[in-house]
Amino acid sequence: MQSSIRIFLLILAGLLPAPALFAHGGELLLTPEAVAQGEPFMVTLAGIDIRDVKKLTWDARRIPVFLYKSKLTALVGVDLLARAGKHTLKLTTLDLDEVAATVTVRKRPKITAPLGIPDKLGGNTRVAQNRLVTTLVEDNAILAKIITTPVPAWSGAFRFPLRNIEIIDAYGYSRNTGSYSIPHKGTDFRAATSTAVLAINDGVVRLAREFTVYGKTVAIDHGGGVVSLSMHLSKIQVKEGQKIKRGDKVGFSGDTGYALGPHLHLSVRIHGVSVDPIKFFALFR
Ligand SMILES: [Zn+2]
Repeated sequence: MQSSIRIFLLILAGLLPAPALFAHGGELLLTPEAVAQGEPFMVTLAGIDIRDVKKLTWDARRIPVFLYKSKLTALVGVDLLARAGKHTLKLTTLDLDEVAATVTVRKRPKITAPLGIPDKLGGNTRVAQNRLVTTLVEDNAILAKIITTPVPAWSGAFRFPLRNIEIIDAYGYSRNTGSYSIPHKGTDFRAATSTAVLAINDGVVRLAREFTVYGKTVAIDHGGGVVSLSMHLSKIQVKEGQKIKRGDKVGFSGDTGYALGPHLHLSVRIHGVSVDPIKFFALFR
């Protein structure tokens, strides 16, 4: 490894977040410059060859580095329940140089709302609430096993999953039902039943099935650690293992599962961490 790169890495130590740092032609960029709980960010490294990167970690979790628009890139998802405060982004090079950078995660204001259980699933009774929580654990265990590919299947920006976009429920607030509090880890878009739901980018369908809570669901592995999930569909139009392109129809919106009315719930996961989809799309603007 060149000594100029080593100097550049030393200069980086402890200096994040910063829009860009230049040293001997080297540059590191964090987009956006500051993040809150539940938000994603993009790391861009320049002035270092991908062959010199051993690993990049976020709080000791390994984050794949890939080439995007011919730049060394990584995507990080900050968990909604991540501790607010300082976190560590660490780059290790092949000759074991280490650079630890600090990223401060802002606290997200806590917003709560009551959660109604649809009559078709028992209404707001204690029995129905307990069943919801038990079933959610089972459903989430299946979602946690979705395969993610380190190399991106996409080469261009992500797109919205519907032709007309109107947000009816934002990501990140807590829904209270009985003694339980369930965070909303996705964005709800207005969509009348049978509105076409489109793939947000290229990828492979990893899951196409019906869940009790999430209803008819399609999960697409986009690579680069990114998985998108479209939930409460009335109809699924793709099969598990199928390769799809950005904008392909994956199904039609509906109100299957725990939905009080027809809408599209979109979740975006980065390395298994659900982040705010709207903030995610903004990374590619
Ligand atoms: Zn939702």
